[in-house]
Amino acid sequence: MKAANLFIAGEWRLPLEGGRRDIHNPATGELLATVAEGSARDADAAILVARKAFDDGPWPRMRAQERASLLFKLADQIDASAEDLARLETQNNGKPLRESRGDVADAANCFRYYAGLITKPLGQTYEVSDPTILAMVVREPIGVCAQIIPWNFPLLMAAWKLAPGLAAGNCCLLKAAEATPLTAITLFEMIAEVGFPPGAAQLLLGPGDTVGQALASSHLVDKIAFTGGTATGRKIVHAAAGNLKKVTLELGGKSPNIVFDDAEFEVALEYALFAIYAGQGEVCSAGSRLLLQRGIAERFLSCLTEASRRIVVGDGMEPETEMGPLITRAHLDRVMSYVTVGKNEGAELLCGGQRLTEGRFAQGNFMAPTVFAATRPDMMIVREEIFGPVLAVQIFDDDADAVRLANESVYGLAGGVFTKDTAKGLRVLQKLRAGITWLNTYHPTFNEAPWGGYKQSGTGRELGTFGLEAYLETKQINVNLNPQRLGWYRNI
Ligand code: NAD
Repeated sequence: MKAANLFIAGEWRLPLEGGRRDIHNPATGELLATVAEGSARDADAAILVARKAFDDGPWPRMRAQERASLLFKLADQIDASAEDLARLETQNNGKPLRESRGDVADAANCFRYYAGLITKPLGQTYEVSDPTILAMVVREPIGVCAQIIPWNFPLLMAAWKLAPGLAAGNCCLLKAAEATPLTAITLFEMIAEVGFPPGAAQLLLGPGDTVGQALASSHLVDKIAFTGGTATGRKIVHAAAGNLKKVTLELGGKSPNIVFDDAEFEVALEYALFAIYAGQGEVCSAGSRLLLQRGIAERFLSCLTEASRRIVVGDGMEPETEMGPLITRAHLDRVMSYVTVGKNEGAELLCGGQRLTEGRFAQGNFMAPTVFAATRPDMMIVREEIFGPVLAVQIFDDDADAVRLANESVYGLAGGVFTKDTAKGLRVLQKLRAGITWLNTYHPTFNEAPWGGYKQSGTGRELGTFGLEAYLETKQINVNLNPQRLGWYRNI
């Protein structure tokens, strides 16, 4: 890794207070890199650079085509290094390589999508009641945008934030998650090489409660886009209140995956596994509550338990691995504490529930795929986001029951329905209080379609045209086509 420092004002800088952080592979414990650990002082310095770059610099004044051309070049660079990036992502985050490969391809295409979108018509003219007035709406960048991302999709979350932010002409300050800075650092090496003007995109590393908090509270920052936990989102909103900066939040979830008796059994079974175990369950939209209709529940649970036991857990770099390690020992401990909670609450542990520590698991943060049945809606394992491979199963009788259980959550990020009756599936999806829903599939995510949650899963949307909107101001311009004295004041 060439430059594991902070990328400020177009150059790699050492952190002002000299902090460093060791980055470990969660599968092997191996030291991968030692990177800069910034402080609030570094955040303040980068904010000043971004402010100047936005107020006086070239980036917001460039033609959309020029910005798009740099974003296309960046996408090509990502593709050219796709395999290296995927391997680095797996080493740093732990997810299986096939998942990282998908993330890298999506990240490149996210830059391409917004590079294309920004050159399409954005403004409007409209007819108003006064015939002498031509009224127009133009869209402008918001300004300095701080962007804080989590560790579960390190490169992809950077792309979701930077691509629309930069396409719109904002000066972006990205803060990577403490545990997973490596692909973001590589991305910024590419940003440096492609030749974005200094201050257009900057990279900060460091703790959330200092660097992140400085970004969220600064009066020189015009917008904060945050992806992370709901509790942190609440702190961001408080910190952002000082200058009432624009806020978008992509937060946690406890999403229901509903399987009806008439679902295609084998399809629903595999998707139920994918919904919870993809990304080790460290996925905001994870189908962490499985709602089974009573008629198939017994058979489904028996197959699910068997299949969960057969999931190949291991180092994400091994081709046969189907589920990797959790991100850190501390996070593993947190997830394991929910296993204890579930047992104490009286849920039935069908499989898993233990750490894996023998042999090839010895140095990593591994746990077995875990399923709890016989749950009640008031249990913590049903209500709270665990963010690991722990599934809580609930049983329902009919559509109304399924919808009631599904919506019984403070979260509203995602939800899935499996049934051969498409009309019934659509009726249920329409009633879900969730921002992202799937019928007979789970998890597919597209750069073209809006992503975000209802209720405490967030506010605003990323991706698609909605994602660009979130980085644009709206200005009306009224032009008098026939300037004449107003005749309002008699004595002039
Ligand atoms: P987290 O909230 O602890 O951290 C996320 C980021 O916020 C990190 O960069 C962290 O340094 C920073 N941060 C922490 N405290 C901060 C503060 N006081 N002020 C400013 N920044 C601060 O979350 P995490 O553990 O990294 O990620 C897991 C969470 O992210 C889960 O709840 C998950 O559901 C959520 N998530 C949501 C989405 C989505 O699109 N809705 C996507 C991915 C992850």
